[in-house]
Amino acid sequence: MTTQEQDFPILIIGAGIGGLATALALQQAGFAVQIFERTKEIRESGSGLTLWANAVRVLQELGLADLVQQLAQQPAPTRAGFYTMRGKQLVQLPPRTVEEQCGGPTIAIHRAEFQAALRERLAPDTLVLDKQLIDLEQDTMGVTACFARGERVRGSLLIGADGIRSQVRQLLFPQSQPRYAGYTAWRGIATGVTPPLMGELWGCGRRFGIVPLAKERVYWYATCNSPENAAERPEGRQKELLDLFKGWHPVVSTLINATEASTILRNEISDLQPLTYWSKGRVTLLGDAAHAMTPNMGQGACQALEDALILARTLRHAHSQENALDMYQQKRLARANMVVVNSHRMGLVAQWEHPLACWLRDSLLALTPPQMLLKQFKSVASYTWESSC
Ligand SMILES: Cc1cc2nc3c(=O)[nH]c(=O)nc-3n(C[C@H](O)[C@H](O)[C@H](O)COP(=O)(O)OP(=O)(O)OC[C@H]3O[C@@H](n4cnc5c(N)ncnc54)[C@H](O)[C@@H]3O)c2cc1C
Repeated sequence: MTTQEQDFPILIIGAGIGGLATALALQQAGFAVQIFERTKEIRESGSGLTLWANAVRVLQELGLADLVQQLAQQPAPTRAGFYTMRGKQLVQLPPRTVEEQCGGPTIAIHRAEFQAALRERLAPDTLVLDKQLIDLEQDTMGVTACFARGERVRGSLLIGADGIRSQVRQLLFPQSQPRYAGYTAWRGIATGVTPPLMGELWGCGRRFGIVPLAKERVYWYATCNSPENAAERPEGRQKELLDLFKGWHPVVSTLINATEASTILRNEISDLQPLTYWSKGRVTLLGDAAHAMTPNMGQGACQALEDALILARTLRHAHSQENALDMYQQKRLARANMVVVNSHRMGLVAQWEHPLACWLRDSLLALTPPQMLLKQFKSVASYTWESSC
């Protein structure tokens, strides 16, 4: 690292899971870091998050094994797997089989609790709120971040962890735009219910997922095919969902009804067509800004955590920070893009709408041995990054 580089912090744009984990990993590696977040306050997100074994290993590497222990539900329900909309089991996937195949447990956590725990572990004054990046300038010595209301901050590097609609990506690679996947997702957390099953129920153009969390809460998600920018129904999200999932296994309406209506989240699902580059000079992308993916493999945040660790390790061992960004891109790009492509494909099949196609899909699923089914998840979740660091 040059003396010039030592004089300025590394600037991170965005305080999502990617930005927070990167700040933590960089601080542990001895770097000065500042995160700039556009929102005025950090809002609680009422949803859960599944972290596969690859992400759990990153958290352990970052010294957060205690956090995993404290926040995570290690599910042991009697029934887990894929089901028809009425709850007939198509494939059984007990957590123990998943753990054996992936080389470690998959955990389910409350997203807001996880992000709060990451924030608490940062050095004081790392996070600056109400700072929206609008532009950046770079030269051979450093980067200047330009924020709304005219403020400018100088850094040695800038990391765009600013999500799928990243302003940093827009400035670096303006041709890359999110692509709509064709369906909407809703998420919620129900309380006071013990579901008789966990996993995913599949219908035609609709799915419903059930994931138990710690403290007797249940994270659920629902998807439904819809045109882009479809208006929300006036009766509200809870009523709309009860209507969309009428006739499904009773656990579905029980969970929707056991959720505080105002906390139900709704997102149109989009991803990014794989990028060829993430880094330009002293600026790079990370997390959804670099490789936003559909949630079908539950890997978006997991990949952001991998980015964070590998970027910090690469920087620690590099002679120059600028070269380190190219090395980070080389180490991460192909793997993250592979997950983007596989998640997209999986979503296409899972959201099939034609009843005959769905019947065929479900019949094939029922004949597939769990090990075969887990193959794609296994190749992603059993990954270790030793050779990349
Ligand atoms: C329905 C659904 C379910 C999912 N389930 C899972 C799952 O089970 N497991 C999993 O691993 N992943 C899952 N994901 C994916 C996961 O949520 C994302 O991959 C992850 O949150 C990305 O984190 P991030 O930090 O890269 O981006 P974000 O979380 O989007 O954070 C970006 C931050 O940058 C800030 N920002 C944006 N622009 C600016 C700016 N110009 N200046 C300053 N700040 C800015 C934003 O306010 C935000 O705080 C799911 C996603 C969806 C939609």
